[in-house]
Amino acid sequence: MNDVKDYIDYPENVKKYDTGKLPIRQKFFFTSILYLASTIAVSTIRGGSKMKKINMEGLKPPYVLLSNHMQFVDFLIKYKATFPHRVHTIATLEGYYHKPWAMEQIGSICKRKYTTDIGLVRSCNKVLREFKDVLCIYPEARYSPIGTTSIIPEVISQLVKRNKVPLVVILHHGNYLRAPFWDFRRKRKVPLYATMKQVLTAEQVEQMTSQEIHEVILKEMQYDEYTWQKENNIRITENFRAEGLHKVLYQCPHCMTESKMNSKGIHLFCEECGKKWELTELGELKALEGETEFSHVPDWFEWERANVRKEIENGTYRFEDDVRVYTLPGAWKYYYMGDAKVRHTIEEGFVLEGTHNGEPYRIQRTPQSLYSLHVEYDYCHIEPIDCFDISTLNDSFFCYPSKENVITKLCFATEELHKIVMEKKKRPKK
Ligand SMILES: [Zn+2]
Repeated sequence: MNDVKDYIDYPENVKKYDTGKLPIRQKFFFTSILYLASTIAVSTIRGGSKMKKINMEGLKPPYVLLSNHMQFVDFLIKYKATFPHRVHTIATLEGYYHKPWAMEQIGSICKRKYTTDIGLVRSCNKVLREFKDVLCIYPEARYSPIGTTSIIPEVISQLVKRNKVPLVVILHHGNYLRAPFWDFRRKRKVPLYATMKQVLTAEQVEQMTSQEIHEVILKEMQYDEYTWQKENNIRITENFRAEGLHKVLYQCPHCMTESKMNSKGIHLFCEECGKKWELTELGELKALEGETEFSHVPDWFEWERANVRKEIENGTYRFEDDVRVYTLPGAWKYYYMGDAKVRHTIEEGFVLEGTHNGEPYRIQRTPQSLYSLHVEYDYCHIEPIDCFDISTLNDSFFCYPSKENVITKLCFATEELHKIVMEKKKRPKK
């Protein structure tokens, strides 16, 4: 087994991207271009876009800006709101795809999803201490799958504490409802609203522990788009509004079958038992016959998560599949690696095994090293269907499963496995 590599041995002409590269300071010319382009784009949003600023008067960089993440439009609203200050955003390598030069010029910081990159700390410090600009982080690291807050890692509060800078949070509403991650190509007519709030001053940061700062972040980053929709009486009348919802609501609460859910028009249904639900204009689910198990969409999602957690706790969880693999060593091209085998288990986490040019490779991410999974519904860069990505520090492996509608469950399993491992580590030893 000695000759199994834990990386792909590419030919020399394959360009790699160095994610450890330090950012350059954004030229003010680009700050202005971003502002103008974003202002024009935001002004064309059907339904309009508003922002309320709270405790922001007189605040000048450096500061850390956190934002929830639902769609591309989040970036535009941010650039419009922060002008005339320069904003350096942490982005993932796919965000640099085909445009690393442009991303570097606007001072973005590049990383691979869900990896621990030591160079990232140096880059963040440079933005805050040397450039004295705004450092923008999307701590959820992906678009929200169900319109509620995702996992926020504690390292962010440590970064704020270390740099003793103010903390600002932009909380977007409506962006998920307008273009949900599971059907992002079609826009629904929804008004967008965001708050931009200084939640901690530099003095407050100085007096607090990073654990206390983390609790403030969790509180200020709470959102639930379906509650927001109802409270604001927003009617989504598009007749395709439920299409794609089965990608996140993959398990039937009536017959418990997984991956046999489907959707069409305003309906979600189970192909196994035939039960059908309507997604109303106000974003509630209603069973056409019999009991409505969950009227609040995120409750169904969390019920699925709890089921996965039970499988892990009773030791029955395991996933295995044949996948088609594409890698992204640089920012210019995805490389097709052919078929490989992937398994996700309680003991090992993810193990991806395949061959490249006749040489076997084995990529592993243990439960401890991976707190969430990068999944894409209908991925725009490779094949427009569901996939997930396992990244190492130097490469990303985009896997297309043979099994249908499994990636949301894989994401739950990754998150719950990591939580269980970390809870065990924290428990005092007897
Ligand atoms: Zn069913």
